Amino acid sequence: MPLFEITYIAVFTIVLAFIFGTVLASFITCTAGRVLAGEDWTRGFSHCDTCGHQLGTADLFPVISYIALGGKCRYCGSKVPIRCLISEVLLGVVFVAVVIAHGYIDVVMVRNLLLAMLMMGISFCDIDGKVVHEGFTTAILAVWIGALPFVPEMKMYTADGVIACVLFAGGMMMYSYARTSAKKKGIDSKLIKLVAVYMLYTGLWEGAAALALTLIIWLATGRKKPVVPILSICIIISLCVGERLFGTSVSAYVGTIAGYLKTFSI
Ligand SMILES: [Zn+2]
Repeated sequence: MPLFEITYIAVFTIVLAFIFGTVLASFITCTAGRVLAGEDWTRGFSHCDTCGHQLGTADLFPVISYIALGGKCRYCGSKVPIRCLISEVLLGVVFVAVVIAHGYIDVVMVRNLLLAMLMMGISFCDIDGKVVHEGFTTAILAVWIGALPFVPEMKMYTADGVIACVLFAGGMMMYSYARTSAKKKGIDSKLIKLVAVYMLYTGLWEGAAALALTLIIWLATGRKKPVVPILSICIIISLCVGERLFGTSVSAYVGTIAGYLKTFSI
Protein backbone atom coordinates (compact mmCIF):
# COMPACT_ATOMS: atom_id res chain seq x y z
CA MET A 1 0.00 0.00 0.00
CA PRO A 2 1.15 3.59 -0.63
CA LEU A 3 2.89 5.08 2.40
CA PHE A 4 1.54 8.63 2.28
CA GLU A 5 -2.15 7.91 1.63
CA ILE A 6 -3.16 8.01 5.29
CA THR A 7 -1.17 10.40 7.49
CA TYR A 8 -1.21 8.44 10.75
CA ILE A 9 -0.09 5.25 8.99
CA ALA A 10 2.79 7.18 7.40
CA VAL A 11 3.86 8.68 10.76
CA PHE A 12 3.48 5.32 12.53
CA THR A 13 5.52 3.50 9.87
CA ILE A 14 8.31 6.11 9.95
CA VAL A 15 8.56 6.06 13.76
CA LEU A 16 8.53 2.26 13.73
CA ALA A 17 11.22 2.22 11.03
CA PHE A 18 13.47 4.39 13.21
CA ILE A 19 12.96 2.17 16.26
CA PHE A 20 13.58 -1.02 14.25
CA GLY A 21 16.70 0.58 12.78
CA THR A 22 18.17 1.34 16.21
CA VAL A 23 17.34 -2.14 17.56
CA LEU A 24 18.72 -3.94 14.52
CA ALA A 25 21.88 -1.78 14.60
CA SER A 26 22.81 -3.16 18.03
CA PHE A 27 22.01 -6.67 16.80
CA ILE A 28 24.10 -6.34 13.63
CA THR A 29 27.11 -4.62 15.24
CA CYS A 30 27.11 -7.39 17.86
CA THR A 31 26.85 -10.03 15.10
CA ALA A 32 29.68 -8.43 13.11
CA GLY A 33 31.87 -8.36 16.23
CA ARG A 34 31.20 -12.04 16.97
CA VAL A 35 31.72 -13.12 13.38
CA LEU A 36 35.09 -11.31 13.34
CA ALA A 37 36.10 -12.88 16.66
CA GLY A 38 35.18 -16.30 15.29
CA GLU A 39 32.43 -16.74 17.90
CA ASP A 40 29.06 -18.36 17.23
CA TRP A 41 26.85 -15.36 16.42
CA THR A 42 23.58 -17.21 16.94
CA ARG A 43 24.16 -18.12 20.56
CA GLY A 44 24.21 -16.26 23.85
CA PHE A 45 23.16 -12.84 25.06
CA SER A 46 25.09 -9.64 24.61
CA HIS A 47 27.75 -9.01 27.21
CA CYS A 48 30.00 -6.14 28.23
CA ASP A 49 33.28 -6.30 26.30
CA THR A 50 35.29 -5.28 29.38
CA CYS A 51 33.81 -7.15 32.35
CA GLY A 52 31.94 -9.84 30.43
CA HIS A 53 28.77 -9.28 32.50
CA GLN A 54 25.67 -10.41 30.64
CA LEU A 55 23.50 -7.41 29.73
CA GLY A 56 19.97 -7.22 31.11
CA THR A 57 16.83 -6.01 29.41
CA ALA A 58 17.31 -2.48 30.78
CA ASP A 59 20.76 -2.27 29.13
CA LEU A 60 19.49 -3.27 25.71
CA PHE A 61 17.24 -0.36 24.80
CA PRO A 62 19.00 1.27 21.87
CA VAL A 63 19.99 4.95 22.22
CA ILE A 64 17.99 5.34 25.49
CA SER A 65 20.15 2.89 27.49
CA TYR A 66 23.31 4.53 26.22
CA ILE A 67 22.19 8.02 27.20
CA ALA A 68 20.64 6.93 30.53
CA LEU A 69 23.84 5.16 31.58
CA GLY A 70 26.05 8.02 30.32
CA GLY A 71 27.75 5.74 27.80
CA LYS A 72 29.11 3.48 30.57
CA CYS A 73 28.66 -0.16 31.55
CA ARG A 74 26.17 -0.49 34.42
CA TYR A 75 28.27 -3.20 36.07
CA CYS A 76 31.92 -2.15 35.73
CA GLY A 77 31.63 1.50 34.68
CA SER A 78 33.87 1.09 31.67
CA LYS A 79 33.12 3.27 28.63
CA VAL A 80 30.87 1.83 25.96
CA PRO A 81 32.25 2.91 22.56
CA ILE A 82 30.45 5.98 21.18
CA ARG A 83 30.22 4.01 17.95
CA CYS A 84 27.37 1.96 19.46
CA LEU A 85 25.26 5.10 19.79
CA ILE A 86 26.29 6.44 16.37
CA SER A 87 25.52 3.15 14.59
CA GLU A 88 22.10 2.93 16.27
CA VAL A 89 21.09 6.46 15.29
CA LEU A 90 22.61 5.99 11.82
CA LEU A 91 20.67 2.81 10.99
CA GLY A 92 17.50 4.40 12.41
CA VAL A 93 17.95 7.36 10.04
CA VAL A 94 18.83 5.08 7.11
CA PHE A 95 15.69 2.99 7.76
CA VAL A 96 13.54 6.15 7.73
CA ALA A 97 15.21 7.29 4.49
CA VAL A 98 14.66 3.88 2.85
CA VAL A 99 10.98 3.81 3.87
CA ILE A 100 10.30 7.37 2.65
CA ALA A 101 12.23 6.89 -0.60
CA HIS A 102 10.41 3.66 -1.39
CA GLY A 103 7.03 5.19 -0.62
CA TYR A 104 5.22 1.86 -0.39
CA ILE A 105 4.68 -0.55 2.47
CA ASP A 106 5.47 -3.87 0.83
CA VAL A 107 7.93 -6.75 0.72
CA VAL A 108 10.44 -4.73 -1.33
CA MET A 109 10.53 -2.12 1.45
CA VAL A 110 11.29 -4.83 4.03
CA ARG A 111 13.89 -6.28 1.68
CA ASN A 112 15.66 -2.91 1.35
CA LEU A 113 15.64 -2.50 5.14
CA LEU A 114 17.23 -5.93 5.61
CA LEU A 115 19.79 -4.99 2.95
CA ALA A 116 20.65 -1.77 4.82
CA MET A 117 21.10 -3.75 8.04
CA LEU A 118 23.36 -6.36 6.44
CA MET A 119 25.34 -3.54 4.78
CA MET A 120 26.10 -2.15 8.23
CA GLY A 121 27.36 -5.58 9.35
CA ILE A 122 29.61 -6.13 6.34
CA SER A 123 30.89 -2.54 6.63
CA PHE A 124 31.92 -3.03 10.27
CA CYS A 125 33.71 -6.27 9.34
CA ASP A 126 35.69 -4.31 6.75
CA ILE A 127 36.42 -1.39 9.09
CA ASP A 128 37.47 -3.57 12.06
CA GLY A 129 38.82 -6.71 10.44
CA LYS A 130 39.69 -5.49 6.93
CA VAL A 131 37.77 -8.42 5.47
CA VAL A 132 34.82 -8.61 3.11
CA HIS A 133 32.89 -11.22 5.08
CA GLU A 134 31.33 -13.76 2.72
CA GLY A 135 28.70 -14.79 5.28
CA PHE A 136 27.14 -11.34 4.88
CA THR A 137 27.45 -11.48 1.07
CA THR A 138 25.53 -14.79 1.12
CA ALA A 139 22.87 -13.30 3.43
CA ILE A 140 22.46 -10.29 1.10
CA LEU A 141 22.02 -12.68 -1.85
CA ALA A 142 19.52 -14.79 0.12
CA VAL A 143 17.42 -11.70 0.95
CA TRP A 144 17.40 -10.72 -2.76
CA ILE A 145 16.27 -14.21 -3.82
CA GLY A 146 13.68 -14.40 -1.04
CA ALA A 147 12.02 -11.13 -2.07
CA LEU A 148 12.16 -11.83 -5.80
CA PRO A 149 8.61 -13.23 -6.18
CA PHE A 150 7.25 -9.97 -4.72
CA VAL A 151 9.19 -7.60 -6.98
CA PRO A 152 7.06 -5.87 -9.62
CA GLU A 153 7.97 -6.88 -13.20
CA MET A 154 10.07 -9.70 -11.81
CA LYS A 155 11.40 -10.99 -15.16
CA MET A 156 12.61 -7.57 -16.33
CA TYR A 157 14.04 -6.73 -12.94
CA THR A 158 15.96 -10.01 -12.78
CA ALA A 159 17.25 -9.60 -16.35
CA ASP A 160 18.39 -6.05 -15.54
CA GLY A 161 20.15 -7.25 -12.37
CA VAL A 162 21.86 -10.20 -14.04
CA ILE A 163 23.08 -8.02 -16.92
CA ALA A 164 24.54 -5.49 -14.46
CA CYS A 165 26.06 -8.33 -12.44
CA VAL A 166 27.76 -9.98 -15.44
CA LEU A 167 28.90 -6.66 -16.91
CA PHE A 168 30.36 -4.99 -13.80
CA ALA A 169 31.51 -7.97 -11.74
CA GLY A 170 32.79 -9.61 -14.95
CA GLY A 171 34.59 -6.39 -15.86
CA MET A 172 36.19 -6.20 -12.42
CA MET A 173 37.29 -9.85 -12.68
CA MET A 174 38.92 -9.22 -16.06
CA TYR A 175 40.62 -6.06 -14.80
CA SER A 176 41.85 -7.91 -11.73
CA TYR A 177 43.12 -10.79 -13.88
CA ALA A 178 44.98 -8.35 -16.14
CA ARG A 179 46.62 -6.75 -13.09
CA THR A 180 47.70 -10.04 -11.52
CA SER A 181 49.06 -11.17 -14.90
CA ALA A 182 51.16 -7.99 -14.91
CA LYS A 183 52.39 -8.92 -11.38
CA LYS A 184 50.33 -6.13 -9.81
CA LYS A 185 47.86 -6.42 -6.96
CA GLY A 186 44.45 -7.58 -8.19
CA ILE A 187 41.02 -6.83 -6.74
CA ASP A 188 39.91 -8.90 -3.74
CA SER A 189 37.67 -11.65 -5.18
CA LYS A 190 35.39 -11.31 -2.13
CA LEU A 191 34.83 -7.66 -3.00
CA ILE A 192 33.96 -8.65 -6.59
CA LYS A 193 31.42 -11.16 -5.26
CA LEU A 194 29.84 -8.44 -3.11
CA VAL A 195 29.64 -6.08 -6.11
CA ALA A 196 28.03 -8.91 -8.11
CA VAL A 197 25.30 -9.32 -5.47
CA TYR A 198 24.77 -5.56 -5.10
CA MET A 199 24.30 -5.28 -8.86
CA LEU A 200 21.39 -7.75 -8.69
CA TYR A 201 19.65 -5.22 -6.45
CA THR A 202 20.43 -2.09 -8.45
CA GLY A 203 20.38 -3.20 -12.06
CA LEU A 204 22.41 -1.51 -14.76
CA TRP A 205 21.93 2.27 -14.46
CA GLU A 206 21.64 2.56 -10.71
CA GLY A 207 24.52 0.10 -10.35
CA ALA A 208 26.69 2.11 -12.74
CA ALA A 209 25.90 5.32 -10.85
CA ALA A 210 26.69 3.71 -7.49
CA LEU A 211 29.98 2.22 -8.73
CA ALA A 212 31.04 5.51 -10.34
CA LEU A 213 30.29 7.39 -7.12
CA THR A 214 32.19 4.78 -5.08
CA LEU A 215 35.21 5.08 -7.38
CA ILE A 216 35.19 8.90 -7.15
CA ILE A 217 34.99 8.88 -3.33
CA TRP A 218 37.60 6.12 -3.05
CA LEU A 219 40.05 7.99 -5.29
CA ALA A 220 39.33 11.30 -3.54
CA THR A 221 40.02 9.77 -0.10
CA GLY A 222 43.44 8.47 -1.13
CA ARG A 223 42.44 4.86 -1.96
CA LYS A 224 43.15 3.72 1.56
CA LYS A 225 39.92 3.71 3.49
CA PRO A 226 37.95 0.45 3.69
CA VAL A 227 35.96 0.39 0.50
CA VAL A 228 32.95 -1.70 1.61
CA PRO A 229 31.30 1.08 3.69
CA ILE A 230 31.72 3.59 0.83
CA LEU A 231 30.36 1.09 -1.71
CA SER A 232 27.42 0.15 0.53
CA ILE A 233 26.44 3.78 1.17
CA CYS A 234 26.57 4.54 -2.57
CA ILE A 235 24.45 1.45 -3.36
CA ILE A 236 21.76 2.33 -0.81
CA ILE A 237 21.65 5.98 -1.99
CA SER A 238 21.35 4.76 -5.57
CA LEU A 239 18.55 2.36 -4.61
CA CYS A 240 16.72 5.18 -2.80
CA VAL A 241 16.98 7.96 -5.38
CA GLY A 242 17.73 5.96 -8.51
CA GLU A 243 14.12 5.25 -9.36
CA ARG A 244 13.48 8.99 -9.63
CA LEU A 245 16.78 9.86 -11.34
CA PHE A 246 16.81 7.07 -13.90
CA GLY A 247 13.08 6.37 -14.07
CA THR A 248 12.60 7.17 -17.74
CA SER A 249 15.85 5.67 -19.01
CA VAL A 250 15.21 2.48 -17.06
CA SER A 251 11.77 1.96 -18.55
CA ALA A 252 13.17 2.62 -22.03
CA TYR A 253 15.94 0.13 -21.38
CA VAL A 254 13.56 -2.43 -19.88
CA GLY A 255 11.41 -2.00 -22.98
CA THR A 256 14.44 -2.87 -25.12
CA ILE A 257 15.14 -6.02 -23.08
CA ALA A 258 11.46 -6.92 -23.34
CA GLY A 259 11.81 -6.62 -27.12
CA TYR A 260 14.82 -8.95 -27.13
CA LEU A 261 13.11 -11.43 -24.83
CA LYS A 262 10.10 -11.50 -27.14
CA THR A 263 12.32 -11.95 -30.21
CA PHE A 264 13.97 -14.98 -28.63
CA SER A 265 10.55 -15.91 -27.17
CA ILE A 266 11.80 -16.50 -23.63
ZN1 LIG B 1 31.20 -3.99 32.05
